This record gives sequence, C-alpha cells and structure tokens, in this order.
Amino acid sequence: NSINGTGGNVTSIINVNNKNGTKMDNAYWNGEMMFYGNGNTAFTPLAGSLDVAGHEMTHGVVQNTAGLEYQGQSGAINESMADIFGSLMDRDDWQIGDDITKTTYIPSGALRDLSDPHNGRTSLSQNGYQPKTMSEYYTGTDDNGGVHINSGIVNYAYYLIANTIGKDKAEKIYYRALTTYLTSQSQFIDLRKAVIKSAEDLYGNVSTETFP
Ligand code: ASP
Ligand code: ZN
Repeated sequence: NSINGTGGNVTSIINVNNKNGTKMDNAYWNGEMMFYGNGNTAFTPLAGSLDVAGHEMTHGVVQNTAGLEYQGQSGAINESMADIFGSLMDRDDWQIGDDITKTTYIPSGALRDLSDPHNGRTSLSQNGYQPKTMSEYYTGTDDNGGVHINSGIVNYAYYLIANTIGKDKAEKIYYRALTTYLTSQSQFIDLRKAVIKSAEDLYGNVSTETFP
C-alpha cells in the first residue's frame, strides 16, 4: 500500500542539479522522496530508467520495513533489495540502469548486472564492476563499507535462485524475507536464513524453492 504501507504520496523530483550547480549524475532517495539528475559523464537523464526508479522507491520500502542500516553488510543487503525489486519492476533483463548508462562510462551500457556482477569488467578499479562471491568481498571503508560494492554478492545469490525457480516465486520469497524476517542489523547470514525460512513458509520445507 504505497511506499510507506499506509497509502502515502509517491513524490519524485526531476531535473535536480548538484548543490554547486553542476549536472547531477545520480538519483537518490532522501528518506522521504526520490530525486533524479539529468546525468553528466556517466548517465543520460536518470528519470528515464524504470529500474532506477524502482531502485529508489525500494529504498523507501526498505526504510519502512526491515530498516536495514546503510553500512556494511546490512547496507549491502539494503542496496541489493533496491536492485532486486528495481530489476523486477523492469523485468525483461537482469541489468540496472541499462536505459541511461553511457557506454563511454561502462562498456556494457548498464550500471550493474545481477546475473554477472563483474559487468564486463575485470577489477574494482573499473566503473561498473562488483564482486560476485564472498571470495571477492570488499573489506574497505569507502561507500559506507561497500554498500554498492558488496551488494553484487547478494544480487548474484538472488540471481541464482530466481534463475532456477523463476522470478514470480523468487520475488514473493524475497518480499517476505524483507518484510517478515530482516531487521536493521541483518547480515548476509541472516538474509540466507530469512530467504530459506520464507521459502519454507510459502512453498513447504522440502520444496525445490527452498533447495533449488
Ligand atoms: N548512486 C546510487 C546507486 O548507484 C544511488 C542509490 O543507491 O540510490 O544505486
Ligand atoms: Zn541505492
């Protein structure tokens, strides 16, 4: 029932510039509403992307449900939920930002790819690259401890599930995990447990959906 669960307004501000007047190459959720820039070196106008809009709106849903703290693993789960439901709203592919990303910035033409977090790149120093598994986990302090970096690991785990059981079932499992089991401090292990429990709740405990 809207972003806040009680029929609240869904407000989007477009044509947003940076505070210093330069063109904003970003979109964000500020805790209350969405803001979209017109792009600069990386993007064309960001409001032109359904999955980016879905990503920003999902930040609002996360805030009003699990409230995942925007730091470290809970922050990476927050980012991944935004990508997962953003990609489900623009359902024809596994990419985020494919309608607005300049190939001069990222050759794949997408900001992120849930099915391949490396996104055609070979290292974290290149725009568009994310780690894919825990062997590539980022332990630094940039980006609130890698919330947009380690989300690639969570995105890829979701992809493996959704690609096996289908998006229709995967989205119900993930929505239940987000709204029923996850909390502000949840870590990756908690997400694993929440997804398994949600799959059991919805589809039974020995089902293909629980153990794909
Ligand atoms: N620039 C951020 C991103 O790449 C914006 C956000 O997290 O909402 O997703
Ligand atoms: Zn985000």
